[in-house]
Amino acid sequence: MKILIVEDEAAMNAFLVQALKSENHAVDSARDGEEGSFLARTNEYDLILLDYLLPNLNGLEVIKEIRAEKNSTPIIMLTVCSELDDKVDVLTAGADDYLTKPFSMAELSARINAVGRRPKIKEPKILSCGSIVLDPENFSVNHKGKNIVLTGKEFALLEFMVKNQDKVLSRTKILEAVWDVNGDPFSNTIEMHILKLRKKLNDKKQKLIRTLPGRGYRLESPTPQSPKV
Ligand code: CA
Repeated sequence: MKILIVEDEAAMNAFLVQALKSENHAVDSARDGEEGSFLARTNEYDLILLDYLLPNLNGLEVIKEIRAEKNSTPIIMLTVCSELDDKVDVLTAGADDYLTKPFSMAELSARINAVGRRPKIKEPKILSCGSIVLDPENFSVNHKGKNIVLTGKEFALLEFMVKNQDKVLSRTKILEAVWDVNGDPFSNTIEMHILKLRKKLNDKKQKLIRTLPGRGYRLESPTPQSPKV
């Protein structure tokens, strides 16, 4: 998932970024409400973790700004018990769930998975493109009947390509979806990962993952879902 963390407390912010990255999520983070609201409204996230008490704009104000733009990205509010008289406020303001600090990583993961399972994010359980079958929940990939072992980033990249099969995916699009806003567009990270995917998928002739010089990459399905350009 691509997750935005809005948390002003430096240690907590850094901990969340680290913990979620280690679970293979792409993570952006903001340290105040204004920046958080801006990132939320200018990028596409699968989930936003939003602190309640924040400088500039507080959590409730951030939610209002996000929802005012008909943006329905799931939001989990992070609160300290004493900060809230009525947790219902948070939910009526448009949050999908809340978590009271201090919480354990296991608790947070469970909430993230629960929000991810809600129909708002329409993730089909099993994804496929021709002979590539991907199971995001179990983190497994099968190609022509064989299990393929991928690293977290390779998996995220392939998942993004399978979801967007037959579309031209520019480096920028891939970086934004699979890495994060700080991803260096000039690094050869994408090339390296594409190379490894091709190797693991035995795609020597580049019939599965095509390179379109100057435009990006395209994962080819045997029966295209959209006309090729
Ligand atoms: Ca705070």
